[in-house]
Amino acid sequence: MRIGIDIGSTASKCVILADGKELVSKSLIPVGAGTSGPQRAISDVLENAGLKREDMGYVLATGYGRNAMLEIADQQMSELSCHARGASFLFPEVHTVIDIGGQDVKVLQIENGVMTNFVMNDKCAAGTGRFLEMMARTLELSLEEISTIGLQWKEEITISSMCTVFADSEVVSLVAQNKALPDIVHGLNQSVATRAAALFRRVGGENPCMMTGGVSRNRGVVAAIEERLGQPLFIHPDAQLCGALGAALFALEMP
Ligand code: ADP
Repeated sequence: MRIGIDIGSTASKCVILADGKELVSKSLIPVGAGTSGPQRAISDVLENAGLKREDMGYVLATGYGRNAMLEIADQQMSELSCHARGASFLFPEVHTVIDIGGQDVKVLQIENGVMTNFVMNDKCAAGTGRFLEMMARTLELSLEEISTIGLQWKEEITISSMCTVFADSEVVSLVAQNKALPDIVHGLNQSVATRAAALFRRVGGENPCMMTGGVSRNRGVVAAIEERLGQPLFIHPDAQLCGALGAALFALEMP
């Protein structure tokens, strides 16, 4: 019984894999590094599986906050390797992964489950899950609401600010002009999609392409990226757990 834990900036994810690579249990706590999220993710995943701390086998930690897990985890590994491994487990045929998490956007090239190249934006919040969370707060929408409302858009609105702080002011001014919420959210989705598509092109992305990370749960962003790339994206209900899944798969290989 092996555990993979992914301590992100925004969420803590944990999975248990049994021999034969069967997903026995999973947990997702919507707070990440520097909070009680990692401990709660481990407690939940054990509880869901009816296991105790003593039952834990090899634990492999990944993600932005993995180095805070030195006491619990047997090993740490880069989130790029773990994401590539987890994505190939869910969809063995994928060649490219677009991962949009809380604080960065990565596009990975994969050959036979192994990452061969990547590009990322981790310098700025624009185009990340945090950007969408901030905009949801400004528009007084839940994450679930902001993920679907933009699909009902009618008028094309371009959010021209490159910076999250200025984009926030732009959104406030669009609300003041009585622009419809679906149109504003569609504009935000387009701005996230433009950035992701630019990274896809920079890395030389190829089909089939999967989207992972929490933003893969945002239907409006997924639709906007699909439109930009002119192809459907592979989406899996466990796509936010990809890093944790990859970590558990590597843990399975440990003696
Ligand atoms: P990290 O690994 O950096 O913690 P995640 O890959 O877990 O990030 O993604 C977190 C992001 O996922 C959030 O910032 C948010 O934008 C998005 N997200 C989380 N839950 C939902 C949801 N239910 N609907 C739409 N988007 C979501």
